[in-house]
Amino acid sequence: MIQDKLKLEIRDIVDFPKPGIVFKDITPLLKDAALCSEMVDAIIDQLQGIEIDAIAGIESRGFLFGFLLANRLDLPFIPIRKQGKLPFKTVSESYALEYGQATIEIHEDAFEKGSRILVHDDLLATGGTVVAASKLIERLGGEIVAYSFIISLDFLKAKGRLSRFSDNIFSLVSY
Ligand code: AMP
Repeated sequence: MIQDKLKLEIRDIVDFPKPGIVFKDITPLLKDAALCSEMVDAIIDQLQGIEIDAIAGIESRGFLFGFLLANRLDLPFIPIRKQGKLPFKTVSESYALEYGQATIEIHEDAFEKGSRILVHDDLLATGGTVVAASKLIERLGGEIVAYSFIISLDFLKAKGRLSRFSDNIFSLVSY
């Protein structure tokens, strides 16, 4: 089972980047090319039957599998980045993190109005990041058709916060 393989590779770093946070480190699994391909296959299986026009990935770890996925599905990849990183005209949204505060941005010409967007990030914690990303996408006239994460921290109960955008919320492993 891919879940078991991932749980073996995901490393817990206690008190990073702040005391009280158990950081889920995915860098060990990035070294395993076969596992990474298997992960992309597993995500694609989860998305069967959902029509997607583009994949939005959240900086920075959401870029890793978000881009692989988009490329494999022959879809455009849209980067959602931290404030001040995108070079063209942007729209932005601020939100609270599990650790701190942040602002994310998207290019205003990232996709056509009415596009069906999959939002991808490495990990779902409180959901603040993807809710902010979802608001950006809706402000540009996009429709969120699904969320995909590598890891979901289910004990933080974020899925309820996402269901107002889409009920299609997938992860490969949950804790
Ligand atoms: P949240 O907005 O609370 O859902 O946090 C999700 C974002 O913060 C993702 O982009 C994650 O990469 C990062 N993040 C939050 N908590 C953790 C954690 N415990 N381990 C690794 N990354 C985390």
